[in-house]
Amino acid sequence: MANKRDYYEILGVSKDTSADEIKKKYRKLALKYHPDRSDEPGAEEKFKEISEAYAVLSDSDKRAQYDRFGHAGIDGQYSAEDIFRNADFGGFGDIFDMFFGGGGRGHRSRGPRRGSDLQYELSITFEEAAFGVRKDLDIPRTENCSSCKGSGAKEGTRPKSCPTCGGTGQVRTTRTTFGMQFVSTTPCSSCHGRGQIIEYPCPVCGGAGRVRNTRRISVSVPAGADSGMTLRLTGEGEAGEPGAPAGDLYVLLRVMEHRHFKRVDYDVISELPINFPQAALGADILVETLHGKVKMNIPAGTQTHSVFRLKGKGIQHLQGHGKGDHLVRVILKTPSKLTKEQKELLEEFEELGEGKKKKEEKAKTGDADSTKGEKAKKGFFDKMKDVLEG
Ligand SMILES: [Zn+2]
Ligand SMILES: [Zn+2]
Repeated sequence: MANKRDYYEILGVSKDTSADEIKKKYRKLALKYHPDRSDEPGAEEKFKEISEAYAVLSDSDKRAQYDRFGHAGIDGQYSAEDIFRNADFGGFGDIFDMFFGGGGRGHRSRGPRRGSDLQYELSITFEEAAFGVRKDLDIPRTENCSSCKGSGAKEGTRPKSCPTCGGTGQVRTTRTTFGMQFVSTTPCSSCHGRGQIIEYPCPVCGGAGRVRNTRRISVSVPAGADSGMTLRLTGEGEAGEPGAPAGDLYVLLRVMEHRHFKRVDYDVISELPINFPQAALGADILVETLHGKVKMNIPAGTQTHSVFRLKGKGIQHLQGHGKGDHLVRVILKTPSKLTKEQKELLEEFEELGEGKKKKEEKAKTGDADSTKGEKAKKGFFDKMKDVLEG
């Protein structure tokens, strides 16, 4: 819209032309370019252009606004609908519909209707979403009748051309308004716009050309798919009216929850319970991932809720290549029930801690002997490991 032409120029009038003159000028141009009357290429565009110019210049407020600020004054203040809404187009009363009635001329001379779209919700497992899967869906839908191939005519016969509209599906009507003649086209009522009449209907579909059927459709879910993603299968929806395309099938994905894994984008997160000796001494632990068991090293002194990253053990990226990571959150399990032996060991551990503190105090005063304490502690952990791990 950057290079919009000047409204006065479009109508071929000057800035001081009176409202009456503008109206006369518009009628003249509209008669010339109305799409129902003109076969000139670009007539419809031209007609829209002059109609917009007229809509603005015939309204004293909009005209004043335009005179002061040009196109910016109009476009900044009025929506396209508002520009046209209250204009007096005289006999061209359907102009508003032509612009805003849903697709210009097309809707007035509509042909056979396209089939409806269908939606199907597909539940898949966490692993199926991660690695991709092929699924067979049983979709109940309307299809073209196989007996008559969708024509609706009995086998061996053909639909005949509609005599009312001569097979075009449209009839032209002429009306006179304000002394002007308008020709408009409407769908033919004899053949409902199809242009054909069925004399001998197909016994399978009763002449409708379509039947209900449950069709098995194979859908391929790509690796990395996630909940809320929709797959579109073009032409797998309901059959259209004869001559019109079928609708599409939309498959909405729902990924079921996994018992151990959670997903964030392409990363997988799981929790790993560890015991006290493992956390304190460190350990190699086998971790369950999407790609099998992976050995993970937990360093000595690991705190609860620490997160470790297993690179590339997550989910395949939908577009491009590469995988997300597997994140392991370590949870330190504190035993809730202790055997007598475990209890004694823990008390021993507590005492060792006390002893170490005393030694540290001693160390400050000079005579240090901490290696013995460390060795005792190590021995303790090994004992406790045996007891806790059973
Ligand atoms: Zn049939
Ligand atoms: Zn007809």
